Amino acid sequence: HIYLDNAATTPMAKKVIETMTTQMQANFGNASSTHWFGRQAHAVMDDSRAVLAKSIHAKPNDIVITSGATEANNTAIMQTAHARAGLGKHIITTAIEHLSVLKPMAQLEKEGFRVTYLPVNEEGEISLADFDAVLDDDTILVSIMMGNNEVGSRMPIQQIGERLVDHQAWFHTDATQAYGLLDIDVDALHVDMLSVSAHKINGPKGIGFLYRRTGINFPPFLRGGEQEMKRRAGTENPPAVAGFAEAVRLITPQEKGDRQAKYYGFKDQIMHALKAADVDFKVNGPLKPDALNHVFNLWLPGVSTYALQTNLDLAGFAISGGSACTAGSLEPSHVLTAMYGAESPRISESIRVSFGAFNTTMDIVQFSDALVKIVNRLRKKAQA
Ligand code: PLP
Repeated sequence: HIYLDNAATTPMAKKVIETMTTQMQANFGNASSTHWFGRQAHAVMDDSRAVLAKSIHAKPNDIVITSGATEANNTAIMQTAHARAGLGKHIITTAIEHLSVLKPMAQLEKEGFRVTYLPVNEEGEISLADFDAVLDDDTILVSIMMGNNEVGSRMPIQQIGERLVDHQAWFHTDATQAYGLLDIDVDALHVDMLSVSAHKINGPKGIGFLYRRTGINFPPFLRGGEQEMKRRAGTENPPAVAGFAEAVRLITPQEKGDRQAKYYGFKDQIMHALKAADVDFKVNGPLKPDALNHVFNLWLPGVSTYALQTNLDLAGFAISGGSACTAGSLEPSHVLTAMYGAESPRISESIRVSFGAFNTTMDIVQFSDALVKIVNRLRKKAQA
């Protein structure tokens, strides 16, 4: 079986598993305990936090470990809105955020907040003119993802950050998909809060962080003990945090660039194979070297997402019909709907292929081959 669903999750790197195994065997103490065992666990948290902070050019004290990006997004959005409701009721986001942003937004609307969902073009990109038109004195929070998980489009984070420097609104970005591929500097981007998840970068599941710039204060989302500098209660998970840091260490700045180039090449390889075999297709989203190149979303007119996905699965290739969170439901993709309209056939005839660190050119050769055969077979069947 060949795994091409890395935007959903990634396999853990061998070094990450080794680090975690060592930690789980040797380091079981409660990081809040004051005895030797506790201090050992605490030291692992400190060392790892420093690695995570450095990866986005932040200070260690501004990193709050969470259970992943879902918790980081929920925390950043709900807590900011509630803490700042006295300053205004307007929030700006986009129509193509992850559900862990959109669902909190829907809840806030029920509570009386006004949420603007910026539209996107056919490449899944927002326009700064649209942003400028809706930003007002009532805006208290802007939450815009760094890059999209279904089509790989990027958002103009730095330009938005610059616009908000002298504005009361706090700026949050969900960097979950961008983190392993782009150089991120929270100061250069002027972001106040940023969400990341370890399992998208060959780290363990159930761990991530919320970056919170010093001065960005709100009550904890999880209340209880005084862990994470009183900002997130619950006994720490040092082995998972150490594994997360190990995964981050493996991705040097050079490695990020190499991956972007490699994945862009994979897209080319697939398109080349489809063209050579005269298979009609269109790319959903951007096709540019600086998009999030690990995500490749393809429209194959005339064949259903479901048929493509199940036939590819039977042939040994794991891809996705959209985002993993909605994969089990028959809900159409809100991302493709925002890009092409609810009536577009693309919504029910597209697949997401997403590349990871362990994919090889040979994987892509085999996948392209299988895709050509399956599409041709399904199209013939549809015509018969
Ligand atoms: N945000 C984006 C853009 C994602 O792709 C994901 C992936 O699931 C999440 C948030 C949620 O992350 P987690 O699985 O860590 O909760």
